[in-house]
Amino acid sequence: MINFVLFGPPGSGKGTQAALLEEQFNLKHISTGDIFRYNIKNETELGKLAKSYIDKGALVPDEVTIDMLKQAVADNAEVKGFIFDGFPRTDIQAEALDAFLSGLETQINACLSLEVSDELLTERLLERGKTSGRSDDTDLSVIRDRIAVYHNQTAPLKHYYQHQDKFVAVDGVGAISEITHRLAEHIRKHI
Ligand code: AMP
Repeated sequence: MINFVLFGPPGSGKGTQAALLEEQFNLKHISTGDIFRYNIKNETELGKLAKSYIDKGALVPDEVTIDMLKQAVADNAEVKGFIFDGFPRTDIQAEALDAFLSGLETQINACLSLEVSDELLTERLLERGKTSGRSDDTDLSVIRDRIAVYHNQTAPLKHYYQHQDKFVAVDGVGAISEITHRLAEHIRKHI
């Protein structure tokens, strides 16, 4: 298996790029945000719990998120590898992911980080909010909170992957296809 973490703040293009890379490399894209939204739409218990955090721009608790991620991986046992989008977002999640993958005799090959300025992120998220139907994309204070959560809780994970020599910063500004090309170059090194 080959597995990648697609890393970056909200609005950096992780979801868009992961979907394109999934197709190009035949890897399974797992987005924890998408799984939460699916559960919210279907009014499951998990959805109700997640909604209370997502609406505020806060992270859903680690234990709930980690269990959900493990289930999503287990449900796709036959794939060539995964692109994790929006996971891990905390040190605890990163450690849990490593332990879990090692139990499956695999590992993260690289953490590809999309680098975009806070100003551009806010602009992109407000623009996306006009059509995404995501309430967390329309409220400026929730957007600011999500970006702050990224800087405080998620960005430090860069060091986690740097220590493992797996961290790759990729310019997340430009045409969608250009950015896909930049990411694909790094993925190819592991194939
Ligand atoms: P996303 O679609 O990745 O922007 O995620 C939307 C929201 O889902 C986030 O703002 C969090 O509230 C929640 N979420 C998604 N992934 C995680 C995660 N790995 N850990 C905790 N909360 C998450």
